[in-house]
Amino acid sequence: MDNVSLSIERGCALGLVGESGCGKSLLARSALGLLPRRLFKVSGSVRLGQSELIGMPRRQLRKVLGSRAAMIFQEPAAAMDPVYPAGDAAYEVLRRHGGLGRVDSRRRVAELFAQVGIDDPLKRAAQIPSRLSGGMRQRALIASTLAADVELLVADEPTTALDVTIQAQILALLNRLRRDRGTSLLLITHDLGVVAATCQRVAVMYAGRIVEHGAVGEIFSRPAHPYTRLLLKALHATQQRDIQRLEGIPGNVPDPSDYPTGCRFHPRCPERFAVCDSQVPQQLPIPGRNGWAACHLYDSSLRGKS
Ligand code: SF4
Repeated sequence: MDNVSLSIERGCALGLVGESGCGKSLLARSALGLLPRRLFKVSGSVRLGQSELIGMPRRQLRKVLGSRAAMIFQEPAAAMDPVYPAGDAAYEVLRRHGGLGRVDSRRRVAELFAQVGIDDPLKRAAQIPSRLSGGMRQRALIASTLAADVELLVADEPTTALDVTIQAQILALLNRLRRDRGTSLLLITHDLGVVAATCQRVAVMYAGRIVEHGAVGEIFSRPAHPYTRLLLKALHATQQRDIQRLEGIPGNVPDPSDYPTGCRFHPRCPERFAVCDSQVPQQLPIPGRNGWAACHLYDSSLRGKS
């Protein structure tokens, strides 16, 4: 992963999209210091408000993650301790960071469970996670982020494992969180439909690099990068259930140990030309749009070279 630069304003949602294996989750985990430091070397700068997270001592970073930033995952069960009550994560946050006593913390957990739409919240908060449905478990995790009133919520494929109705409810909940509390949201997904329903801006990732960045409306109506165009074509074919046009993108995402030279998308790109396999494309502004694409097609000095 290299040369990645993203920012999210307070109360806004940025969608990070791309096929599985593009490096989206790795990027988010490295930004939040969730990767083992002895195995992954992360350099650069990650700022949460005025705090620099890169190089922050572990203990301090854990405190920041408990109180100011949080991450929720595709399979909430994996992030919950199977033998502790479902309300335990929110309870611990309130005890450690909220300064509440035991009774008040329990009462507050029930309030938070009710806020995220869990029926019978007192009973549910006391049950172990396996007694709750997948949607309820995801809501319980979101309730623990409400307990901390985090500034940044990173949601990694939070609805992929849920059925369509529950998915819509969870996305509506994330939207409410952003609007009502000013929480900034980084939403990682391979589903552009989810981005359209939730985000204001989108970054498209391919093979460890951001290849296009811009406002959701602009990218959806006029995608600039060939990879984004193919992702959107696949989305439209799926939405229209058009089997004839449901081709997918030929080839596979390359292995990080064997990234192609030049533009990493060139082996799969239907629009590649002479320089694409040797020169790394720079981030270039797209005329008439508030965004950029990393593609030689927008470099006027290279256009026409075939
Ligand atoms: Fe395709 Fe070349 Fe643009 Fe890469 S730089 S996306 S290969 S046209």
